[in-house]
Amino acid sequence: MNIRKIYICENCRKIVNVLDELLFVEEKSTRGFCCELCIEQFYTPVIQFFEDIENNCRKEMNLGDEDCLECANGPEKMFHALKRPDEAWLLSNELGDNYYSFITRYEQGNETIYLVVICLVYNFRPSFVLLATATKSLELLSRFQIGEQVDEVTDSLKMTEESDESIKGEIDEHVMNMVELKKSVLLSWLLERRTEDDVDIEMFSSYQHHERLTIDSADEIYKWQDAEGDMMFTYIKAHEHDGESFYYLVICILYVDDEGGQFALPVLSFPSRDPKLYDFFKKGERVIGALKN
Ligand SMILES: [Zn+2]
Repeated sequence: MNIRKIYICENCRKIVNVLDELLFVEEKSTRGFCCELCIEQFYTPVIQFFEDIENNCRKEMNLGDEDCLECANGPEKMFHALKRPDEAWLLSNELGDNYYSFITRYEQGNETIYLVVICLVYNFRPSFVLLATATKSLELLSRFQIGEQVDEVTDSLKMTEESDESIKGEIDEHVMNMVELKKSVLLSWLLERRTEDDVDIEMFSSYQHHERLTIDSADEIYKWQDAEGDMMFTYIKAHEHDGESFYYLVICILYVDDEGGQFALPVLSFPSRDPKLYDFFKKGERVIGALKN
């Protein structure tokens, strides 16, 4: 075997040969990770650090049980907080590590709640959340106004959102939540049926780039209805990589936008070497021709 380019996962030190197989969460950083799990593990001490700071501040200010804290658990509100922050703060160091704090005001009755998200940013988008919390206290809020206040990031975030031509940018939160629910159902089917010698789940992210190719030039497409009556599609394509053959499956939901345009939105995609699993997802009727995606 010829030695090709070498890249190392910052967390587990696994060596990969293709840059595309590494995941990045920080701008201008050479830190790459082989899978989502490695990202989580690597940043766990930072998450812990911000959690401790929050807990200590709340103790000090007697704010341990603010009722607005549940706002920080609502994915819809947090999603909004990340997409359109009212304030952005940036804490940098000499090594080029950048921690962003996004603050969004949220009116509830006659009270103002501040949603705070401390995160990493990649490609002008929040890429990894280190802390998400909510408070009505300006004193506590001031502790999360870390580093320098920045305008550019807020503008860039808004700009990317507005110029985002991908269909995902136009889909409302309700649809995204529905997709998440369907994903968890499909994932449970997958976990129930997969065999031990199939592709390791931790490796799934390194196959992610096959999703596009599978949708664009599927060998087979099947159309079926799920339990909620939604129209689903299974796109299947056989691939070969480094002498290994596998199928890549992309399960999509049919999404119809306000203008009546039809799109197949990916819900779950995964590689498999198991023909039985492949057969299971070959549901409904085979359709000819691909949907525009
Ligand atoms: Zn790794």
